[in-house]
Amino acid sequence: MIVLVIGLTGGIGSGKTAVSDRFARWGVPIIDTDLLARELVEPGQLALMDIVAEFGPNCLNGDGRLHRARLREQVFADPAGRHRLEAILHPRIRLLARERIAGLTAPYCLLVIPLLVETGMTDLVDRVLVVDAPEAERMRRVMARDGIDETQARRILAAQADRDQRLALADEIVENTGDLAALDQRVAALHRHYSTLAAT
Ligand code: ATP
Repeated sequence: MIVLVIGLTGGIGSGKTAVSDRFARWGVPIIDTDLLARELVEPGQLALMDIVAEFGPNCLNGDGRLHRARLREQVFADPAGRHRLEAILHPRIRLLARERIAGLTAPYCLLVIPLLVETGMTDLVDRVLVVDAPEAERMRRVMARDGIDETQARRILAAQADRDQRLALADEIVENTGDLAALDQRVAALHRHYSTLAAT
């Protein structure tokens, strides 16, 4: 059983993975909705069949797997298409997340939902933890990590909810502006906080 579900979110490059890796070191179970979404579109899954029915066989690779980049391009400029894709995926992500959480035994778990604000999946979580860093810093990190240029980084950032919307949902915030040793300390403190909350 799980007492508390902590929703972890933050803009691209804010450090969600850096934070969730540190919780994992404390033995905290992590469920990542991005990974659930990938599972759901494996060959043979119903969601993949629905996507092909909706968007055509062009969104598949030669080997029958989802061509993620092509589908992304297809829906990026088309809000109606994006909504249809979300209508296929989001209810299934919710169900699978609930199922996985129900199978866990721990005082608390992290549910990583990068687009928590955009998808309104807040009902899945008891508390929201936002990882935050200034936009310029996030751009620098993403450009270094993914080898993309400033224009691409800016485009991705612009497609996400803004910082204020995200922070407005936060119960706790990680200001990820220091070094990784500072992040270790912040996560250790949050782990104590959540362990105490789960115990009372
Ligand atoms: P995405 O939304 O793209 O999945 P993310 O929020 O998970 O990104 P991370 O991958 O954790 O972000 O961090 C982005 C990059 O910045 C990584 O290469 C990570 O190692 C680095 N990074 C994160 N936090 C720090 C920090 N405090 N100091 C130095 N580097 C950091």
